[in-house]
Amino acid sequence: MSKYVEMTHDQVIAACKKYMNGEQLDFVEKAYEYANKAHAGQKRASGQPYIVHPTQVAGTLATLGLDPDTVAAGFLHDTVEDTPVTNDDIKRDFGEDVAFIVDGVTKLNKYQYKSHQEFLAENHRKMLIAMAKDLRVIMVKLADRLHNMHTLQHLRPDKQRRIASETMDIYAPLADRLGIGTIKWELEDMSFHYLNPEAYYRIVNLMDVKRSEREKYIADAIKTMKKTLDGLHIKYEIYGRPKHIYSIYKKMVNKHKDFEEIYDLLAVRVIVKTVRDCYAVLGVVHTEWKPMPGRFKDYIAVPKVNGYQSLHTTIIGPGGRPLEIQIRTRQMHEVAEYGVAAHWAYKRGNFTGVQETSSGEKLDMVREILELKDETKDADEFMKSVKSDIFSDRVYVFTPRGEVYELPRGSVTLDFAYAIHTQVGSHAVGAKVNNKLVPLDYKLKNGDVIDIMTQTNSAPSRDWMDMVKTSRARNKIRRYFRALDREGSIERGKQEVAELLRENGLNTKKFLDKEHIEKSLEHFNYNSSDELFAAIGFGDQSAMGVYNRLTIDQRRKDEKEKQKKREEEILNAGQQSSSSEDKKSASHDTVMKVKHKNSIMIQGVSDLMLHLAKCCNPVPGDDIIGYVTKGRGVTIHRSDCRNITEEAKKQGRLIDVEWENVEENNAQAFNANIEVFGYNRGNLLSDVINKLNSLTKNINNISGKVNDENIAHFYVTVSVNNSSQLQGILSKLHDIPDVYETKRSDN
Ligand code: MN
Repeated sequence: MSKYVEMTHDQVIAACKKYMNGEQLDFVEKAYEYANKAHAGQKRASGQPYIVHPTQVAGTLATLGLDPDTVAAGFLHDTVEDTPVTNDDIKRDFGEDVAFIVDGVTKLNKYQYKSHQEFLAENHRKMLIAMAKDLRVIMVKLADRLHNMHTLQHLRPDKQRRIASETMDIYAPLADRLGIGTIKWELEDMSFHYLNPEAYYRIVNLMDVKRSEREKYIADAIKTMKKTLDGLHIKYEIYGRPKHIYSIYKKMVNKHKDFEEIYDLLAVRVIVKTVRDCYAVLGVVHTEWKPMPGRFKDYIAVPKVNGYQSLHTTIIGPGGRPLEIQIRTRQMHEVAEYGVAAHWAYKRGNFTGVQETSSGEKLDMVREILELKDETKDADEFMKSVKSDIFSDRVYVFTPRGEVYELPRGSVTLDFAYAIHTQVGSHAVGAKVNNKLVPLDYKLKNGDVIDIMTQTNSAPSRDWMDMVKTSRARNKIRRYFRALDREGSIERGKQEVAELLRENGLNTKKFLDKEHIEKSLEHFNYNSSDELFAAIGFGDQSAMGVYNRLTIDQRRKDEKEKQKKREEEILNAGQQSSSSEDKKSASHDTVMKVKHKNSIMIQGVSDLMLHLAKCCNPVPGDDIIGYVTKGRGVTIHRSDCRNITEEAKKQGRLIDVEWENVEENNAQAFNANIEVFGYNRGNLLSDVINKLNSLTKNINNISGKVNDENIAHFYVTVSVNNSSQLQGILSKLHDIPDVYETKRSDN
């Protein structure tokens, strides 16, 4: 932080020039002039002209490569709050987007000091994101906070500490959440400096003492590593990695380690072009030096939540000292440093110094991590849509006293009332949201300030149950009615069940008798029928569930009878057709013919389930026979299948079936198993595979074995349309030299 240098107006414009066109530069320049005029005569606490501050903010945003609107908003961000300029002025002169961002930043400034102590840091952070409807608001706010931290020495010590702790609690983690490493580290180190100056300076001094020795080590290590990496013939960059003061401190505290143990760890970073290069570098590094066990982390395959990607490893480096190595692509590096801002710049295709094109998927990953649901078409859209969607499932609202409540998105006024207190919910009659009257089912929005109105003689109504979103509120409403209305609930519950019975044509008296009820009580674990029906009336127990339980035996019985009837029907039809062989063709027109999905026609039977037997895998054209199973329809076997026994024939369970349109039907593929025998020689397997490939596109499986006599035996599963195709395959396979037998598998 000591080497912080303020940017001049010219430097900011130069940073913009790297990626903006003339028109955009004019726009940004106009924002500067506008702010300069508005802030004329104003001074910062440091005594500097006020315009220095917006210039730094715009400079940070331009360095991150953000769009002209955001950079312009950086120049203008304090005008509405601190000068006579209004938001309408901004909208008129710079358009809606800039006005929106400036307005967002102005609002954030108001909220951040409001009953600050009451906010948990985490809630506050979420709230800030949720309230900033556009991610660019957060970017400007972070840039604003960055410069304010750099100039904190000009404020009173109590203010310094308060702002520093707010930065540490809220803004540094926010930068981290958005993956903007550079801003996160700077904010942390600066806050740490104000919050714990002794520890801060102790570490700074220790770093100074060791600096030259350490720098020599790193230089030597890099030299040695370069020799190895040069052998890869890839483009790479390697350099010693700076360590941040606060991160050293955190490690000392969290891992109970001395400064030496942490700081002395050499750390280098290798930047390469492609992901493949990353792993190549890792490969040679691990070959050349011994990796320390348990220290390898693949954040490329499994990125961190904020989108960070890298390979981390620690090796016993040159001189026997542990050496920490980070390997990443240039693009991963930019994402690590600039987070979502890098993504934005990539999408615009103007990110400085990066020409990689294989980046699309990685960036989509960043987006996924930010839990964006909708596809975003361009970069500006992306930045706008990141906004509150990061925490899209929650809304953050306030009591009039400024206490924040977190509720699921979709919650209504009444949910909020119950969240405050059961009594507030029970007696609620309406509410004021942001001083406007709203009904109890008003859908809450982020940032709403809600004042619930109650009346002591008012009570919950039954339709509230459907109105509320949270189960907490629903349970409380339910409990109220449960206590109030047991008799009514019992009656309602009974009616609901009776209604279901009647709808299904069942006798209510029969199924609501003692025997049936008692079985249900046991099943659902209630002590009395009153309890059971009350539960239905309350909505704790579904009436359908009870209905199903009451009628289960009956329904099973019905089902069995239906099944039996069907079997009989099938068997009758089968016997008829086989016992009247001569009549078959004559009565052809009167026999019901049904095309089934497996294109098998069965004489005289409708509506039945067909299965192709797995044992013999019949295909169209094969001689087939149907076997009537018990309760599972008809299974189609090849007539010569070994599973079609005399026994089955005697039982009368076989029926005549035939294929329909064997020649025409090429739409459907059927699995067939075949076997190939041959004298094993080199290339026999590949000859078989090549031949199969020339005959069919559908080889589903192939396996084989060779016995002691050097006989090869292959098992092949192919898909065919019919048996003549299959016969063709078998005979062609037989033509292969040294193949002496091909056949359908028996099973
Ligand atoms: Mn500011």
